[in-house]
Amino acid sequence: MQGQPPILWDRAKGFQVYDAWGNCWIDWSSGVLITNAGHGREEITDAIVQQAEHGLLTNYCFPNEQRVRLVRRLLELSPPPLRKVFLLTTGSETVEFAIKVSRMHGREVGGAEKNVIVSFDKAFHGRTLGAQQAGGIPGLKTWIGNLDPGFVQVPFPDGYWCEDESFATFERTLAESGIAPERVCGVIMETYQGGSSAFAPVPYVQAMRAWCDRHQALLVLDEVQAGFGRCGTLWGFEYYGIVPDVVTCGKGISSSLPLGAVIGRDDVMDLCEPGGASSTHGGNPVCCAAALANINVIVNDNLAANAARVGALMHACLRTVQSRHPAVIGFIGGRGLVAGVHCTKPGQKVPDSGLAREIVWRCVTKGVLMFSPVGYGSASLKVSPPLVFTEDACRESCAVLDEAFAEATGQ
Ligand code: PMP
Repeated sequence: MQGQPPILWDRAKGFQVYDAWGNCWIDWSSGVLITNAGHGREEITDAIVQQAEHGLLTNYCFPNEQRVRLVRRLLELSPPPLRKVFLLTTGSETVEFAIKVSRMHGREVGGAEKNVIVSFDKAFHGRTLGAQQAGGIPGLKTWIGNLDPGFVQVPFPDGYWCEDESFATFERTLAESGIAPERVCGVIMETYQGGSSAFAPVPYVQAMRAWCDRHQALLVLDEVQAGFGRCGTLWGFEYYGIVPDVVTCGKGISSSLPLGAVIGRDDVMDLCEPGGASSTHGGNPVCCAAALANINVIVNDNLAANAARVGALMHACLRTVQSRHPAVIGFIGGRGLVAGVHCTKPGQKVPDSGLAREIVWRCVTKGVLMFSPVGYGSASLKVSPPLVFTEDACRESCAVLDEAFAEATGQ
């Protein structure tokens, strides 16, 4: 556990993080897009304390009331045909489960050969064996050695690295990989790419939805980062005007303790026999209590709308920063309160991780907390404050980013 700016977190509240020596930062990290409802939100803390004091800290797969309440709430908020929920602990686990049910479903409708998972270049879905192979960053897969040929990637239509944003590229690349559409059991896509924060074009995703239907492949949207208000709507996929067959959730589902959830069509979720996908800590009662309180805060305070409103200002401010440093900011992705500011070598389409690292550190020393650069070439600065972010804090922190670019580039 290294690789982040050496700030010793002592406590955090709202959109601010404090060390033990009186320093305070405006937080652009939300941990790592966890604290959608804000750090240390009282309702969440109270729910955790209450459940702990109530006297049930863990209970494996035996039923408990907190779990039922959370599942009901998630289903109230999910559009049809998303009708069943499975609770886990981490985002990676939810992706593993999505891969598993995609393959089980493929086997059922098309036999053993229908086992290919299609995902996207530059995607990140987690670090466990299946999730890592669904990812599209070759450097993260070298440790695996014997890669499963049942995972293939196609270009992600971000409009920058991949200028061709037509759905024809999906079909063509698949054909070039020697995969017939009948062999595809599932397509998994981050709602926006965590690395760049880029969304796909709406028509592309709508065509992909239709393609999955035509070929009996499950469409999985990985909402581990995008869900729970982050993009200005409760679910990130609302932007595309489609509903996936399976949705994976984590991070902002609780704004605090570890919890993951998979929400899916009931015929898909029922493919696993009861007990056939159990996990020791899945749906832990304290984590469920935290998640339920968190979701109620997000809904009742309409934090998705705040993310849309302050996010619009944030994107406008970031575009101004880009217009002042156009040679070294290649593109800015994102919607709502998430953005990726991509640093390039001056005037070239070449990632500049050195500059990105320097910007992060300059911002941190000036009071804006960011995690290390992410994405292609480790050159994207991620801007992802808690959804309780205010316009004042937005303006103040974007001015800091501008100053950091000016100092780093000597302009
Ligand atoms: N999917 C996406 C889109 C993610 O951003 C992440 C984490 N960054 C994961 C899956 C993995 O989640 P976890 O780290 O909780 O296993």
